[in-house]
Amino acid sequence: MHSNRDYQKILKNIYNQLLFEEDFGTVASYIPELAKVSPKKLGVYLQTNDGEGYAYGDAIEKFSIQSISKVFSLSIALSILGPSLWKRVGVEPSGTAFNSIVQLEYEKGIPRNPFINPGAIVIADILVTYLKNPKQDFLNYVRSLAGEDTIDYDLKVANSEKITGYRNAAHINMLKSFGNIQNDVDEVLDFYYHQCSLSLTCKELAQAFNAFANQDKPFLYNGITLSKSQVKRMNAIMLSCGFYDESGEFAFRVGLSGKSGVGGGIAAILPRGLSIAVWSPRLNKKGNSYMGMRFLEEFTTETDLSIF
Ligand code: GLN
Repeated sequence: MHSNRDYQKILKNIYNQLLFEEDFGTVASYIPELAKVSPKKLGVYLQTNDGEGYAYGDAIEKFSIQSISKVFSLSIALSILGPSLWKRVGVEPSGTAFNSIVQLEYEKGIPRNPFINPGAIVIADILVTYLKNPKQDFLNYVRSLAGEDTIDYDLKVANSEKITGYRNAAHINMLKSFGNIQNDVDEVLDFYYHQCSLSLTCKELAQAFNAFANQDKPFLYNGITLSKSQVKRMNAIMLSCGFYDESGEFAFRVGLSGKSGVGGGIAAILPRGLSIAVWSPRLNKKGNSYMGMRFLEEFTTETDLSIF
């Protein structure tokens, strides 16, 4: 599919075009370890469903995937709990920042969706309940999705976030007060900080996300299985909630299902077509990679490969 296109040239042209644009935004600093990353990094990896891969720029350098990991954790929780998962977390865009706490009280401890921090913390609680060895099982699953055994947590990043994670501590305590956390709050946060600290390259990320794009291939990775309908739902939530209060903007400008992280990564998919991961650490005011969004906007405009 799409193999008549010269993807290598397309990636190169967009990359070179963006080098001449002013790179707005700032590297995340509320997790001190992330502030050490060079703002100049820019990498991209495209994986077609036919198995072709195209890299450009800093595509095989590891970075902190942060909230992109919420896609992996959600898929495990959905596989384990099925539709009863939606009793504990909603599927509506929040219209608020990823770390906003305002809705939790009037939503009575049921976060609007699994990608804002309180929603992802509920998912982390579910994984701590159901996985035998939560951190190891989660890691094995991501390794299996990406087809790369060397993927690992970055313990410096996990620890850096733990030390400064006052906002997430507020979320989990609020959730617990409403009865939507079953385990010890510190154990759940420890798991959550590890999942966010996962360090992947654009190549590994695009390979992992291809599982969600390649809907004609059975979804079975390290014992985690999703039906076609469940993969469809994953992709729908990425589209409507993957970029917090910029999800509408991402759909409008890019038109792919995807997920961002404050490490500057964006992983996106065209269902039944391809997966693509971009990394550029400078974030816009909504906490999404400025250049990552620009890159994908140019990519879907140039190729006409979007959901719409
Ligand atoms: N670990 C980060 C946090 O909890 C993830 C946020 C993000 O990537 N948007 O704040």
